[in-house]
Amino acid sequence: MKKLVLVGGGHAQLAVLQALARQRAADIDAVLVTPSPWQYYSGMLPGFIAGHYAEADCRIDLRPLAKAAGVRLQLGQAVELAADERQLRLAEGSGLDYDLLSLDPGSATDLDTLAPPVAGAPLADPWAAEHVLAVKPLAHFFALWPQLQARALAASTYQLCIVGGGAAGVELALAAAHALKAAAGTGHAGIRVSVLAPAAALLPGHAQGVRARVTRRLADSGILVVPQRAHSGTDGLRLADGRLYPADCVIAATGARALPWLERSGLACSDDGWIEVGDTHQSLSHPEVFAAGDCCTRLDPRFARSGVHAVHAGPVLAHNLLAHARGEALRHYTPRRHSLYLIACGPRWAIASWGRWSAQGRWVWRWKDWIDRRFIRSHSV
Ligand SMILES: Cc1cc2nc3c(=O)[nH]c(=O)nc-3n(C[C@H](O)[C@H](O)[C@H](O)COP(=O)(O)OP(=O)(O)OC[C@H]3O[C@@H](n4cnc5c(N)ncnc54)[C@H](O)[C@@H]3O)c2cc1C
Repeated sequence: MKKLVLVGGGHAQLAVLQALARQRAADIDAVLVTPSPWQYYSGMLPGFIAGHYAEADCRIDLRPLAKAAGVRLQLGQAVELAADERQLRLAEGSGLDYDLLSLDPGSATDLDTLAPPVAGAPLADPWAAEHVLAVKPLAHFFALWPQLQARALAASTYQLCIVGGGAAGVELALAAAHALKAAAGTGHAGIRVSVLAPAAALLPGHAQGVRARVTRRLADSGILVVPQRAHSGTDGLRLADGRLYPADCVIAATGARALPWLERSGLACSDDGWIEVGDTHQSLSHPEVFAAGDCCTRLDPRFARSGVHAVHAGPVLAHNLLAHARGEALRHYTPRRHSLYLIACGPRWAIASWGRWSAQGRWVWRWKDWIDRRFIRSHSV
């Protein structure tokens, strides 16, 4: 009997649960460690903020999936991994040892540039601690958004700043502007939404046509784009040119950073802390460890961290875990050259981006809505 520990119920791990449900492995004793019974789906967060979805529409219940897979669900947070000893330690103090480890715990919001850590503790600065809301963990963001919205609507003036110009930052800004305008009515002129990001950081990796469409959309929605890097100071949000920028709340959509406990694990990691894996998603240093999703980096083709790749790597991760346990051949995950991104624009309208091609309209929103709901449905037992 081999002990398999799955860490994180992320996008790729869902495929592992489904594979174990299809072919119950009598030779494997599996446990899933994850902090919550819910796996939140980032693709639907903008639609939740915009008011198109309830929170319950945007998450997958891991309990029935684990049950169907014959996997024990242990609610907890991994805080330490000693890869050489094959030992995982959880926040509650308990430990798990394993023969085979599958890592899909995602990533954290990269707060280092926005709110530089003080003595290693991010957000130790009181202004940042009170005003900066990181987009991840998603469960936390889903819980806090209604409070943020209520505070904005109750105030006579409210400045919401989204720091980060990637697809996530842009979608959050458009969704927030739509939600606040819809809830406040046209009479509330005191709410302002801004996106702060250097020009080169606006939708990096997307074609010029997509950037032009998004820029128009931001302008039409009354969102101010400030083409500067921003960081939090003791007295507020400061721009790269030294000016203080008015901000009642700062949403950090500043990209992903590696989870510190994985950086310290003894697994081969890149300089910035991502677990190094090959095209089979097996650790380069510890063959009994597999990783997929945001937490890892591929050395062959480097590709962007995204839910799309996490989902597509899932079936390969699932196959390889069982194959490794049985001494069978591993499979490769070959990412497609281009991935389709559907960028929600606040109202039921979206922009499609695929390589150099782009399109927009209500029909793109309906397409995105169909894909996203289908993803959630396909993981409902
Ligand atoms: C607003 C927003 C919109 C996005 N939209 C898109 C999109 O449209 N398309 C796209 O491709 N990408 C999108 N992304 C990126 C996408 O969210 C990530 O790339 C994707 O979630 C990565 O999946 P994952 O499986 O690696 O991790 P996650 O989906 O983050 O899952 C990680 C899981 O591990 C659990 N976990 C975390 N820490 C621990 C721990 N210490 N111990 C145990 N369990 C743990 C978490 O609770 C969670 O269940 C978006 C991101 C944001 C912020």
